[in-house]
Amino acid sequence: MSQNKSFYITTTLPYVNAEPHIGFALEILQADVLARWKQWELGDGNVFFNTGTDEHGQKIFEAATRTGEKVESYVEKYAQEFKKLKEILGLSDNLRFIRTTDERHIRAAQELWHKCKKDIYKKEFEGLYCVGCERFLTQRDLVNGKCSIHNTEPQLLREKNWFFRFSKYEKELLKYLEDPKVIIPDWRRAEAINFVKEGLEDFSISRDKSRLTWGIPVPNDDTQVIYVWFDALTSYISTLGWPDEKGDFKKFWQEGHTLQLAGKDQVRFQSLMWQAMLMSAGIKNTDQVFYHGFINSGGQKMSKSLGNVINPYDMVKKYGTDATRYLLLRHVHSTEDTDVTWGRLDEWYEAGLVNGLGNLVSRIMKLAEDNIDETTDWDTHGYNFSGYTKEKLDEYREDLVMDYIWSKIAELDKKIQDKKPWETKDKKVITDLVEELGQIAYNLKSFMPKTSEKIIESIKVNKKPENLFPRQD
Ligand SMILES: [Zn+2]
Repeated sequence: MSQNKSFYITTTLPYVNAEPHIGFALEILQADVLARWKQWELGDGNVFFNTGTDEHGQKIFEAATRTGEKVESYVEKYAQEFKKLKEILGLSDNLRFIRTTDERHIRAAQELWHKCKKDIYKKEFEGLYCVGCERFLTQRDLVNGKCSIHNTEPQLLREKNWFFRFSKYEKELLKYLEDPKVIIPDWRRAEAINFVKEGLEDFSISRDKSRLTWGIPVPNDDTQVIYVWFDALTSYISTLGWPDEKGDFKKFWQEGHTLQLAGKDQVRFQSLMWQAMLMSAGIKNTDQVFYHGFINSGGQKMSKSLGNVINPYDMVKKYGTDATRYLLLRHVHSTEDTDVTWGRLDEWYEAGLVNGLGNLVSRIMKLAEDNIDETTDWDTHGYNFSGYTKEKLDEYREDLVMDYIWSKIAELDKKIQDKKPWETKDKKVITDLVEELGQIAYNLKSFMPKTSEKIIESIKVNKKPENLFPRQD
């Protein structure tokens, strides 16, 4: 992958019918670490890091209607909510943000429609529609007549819609999926292959305006709006200025390495529907899609009715930005489901940060401050990323890199116990400890940028920093 000079990374675009969810915080943090890492590897201006908001569709229209607000001001309010995540989670300065209500996006979605025109046809259709899923359900999506994900009764809809010839792309999709790099983890690729082998049904890509007006108008058909998925998936290239094929689109999509991050329930949308749309339009397929697991709480899916929702704002309020990054990036498995409760978060915070990294920094820098000449010119430019950090970041296993860094922290703790520098005042031992602490801080750069900076700064001035991770009351 390192042969590419540019790198494109995007999260999925969350629906704006609720406040940012912890699962999305995980996704955008995972993306942020990789964006920072690639920025370091490829240099300024060679990474395009994208997120945004998915603002059309029936689900959002209904949510807005329930609040009595106009849908335009409703989506505006939530889009701002999502933009705030940048500061709250300490995301890279160069994060881009696309809204599916942006004029340039609307033009792109309509242009993609044109490009796929040969595979689009109109037919009368009757089906069971789940608003939660924003799609028609098939028999295998139903349990006792209800949506298996939302446990709600779908609506029976009969209307004339435009359809996309998904079934035509079975062979081409199977060929795309042959490459083990296109989906991470690999067993999700097996899942995608199975989906295709079970047979693909053409899917509806428009809705009748008599039912839903909140969407992008179908070109040359006043009676229909574009289906929300067809619309939203286009955002991955509209953010790059497509249909303009020069500029960012050329640099990042055509000539760069493209990586999408998504939750594990997204395989059919990101790796199949979207890829078939790209094939139809004659646009290069996504190089890789990475799927993360779900965060549950107390053995159950988080839900308002169960009262077990943990939201990223509350986490940051309680632990701070970098500690929240630590908790989600280390203790949530990169690709499997993880169970998180406030009790567990408290324990992880205490063990890894208060008694772990925070305590280590205080101990070593106190020794340095007391025993090493304050005019010492510490070389903080000689740090480097460990081979393991590089290898695992290239596999997108951020949790493993974090575990590795914390094993180094434990080694240093043990070294202090063994060598007792507070008794011996051995300058060589203390200097080595500071040097190794600097390496740890440097390897934390993409994960906990502020903390990494603070530690390196305290080494430069040879002074113990203020308490990095205060004990929780
Ligand atoms: Zn559903």
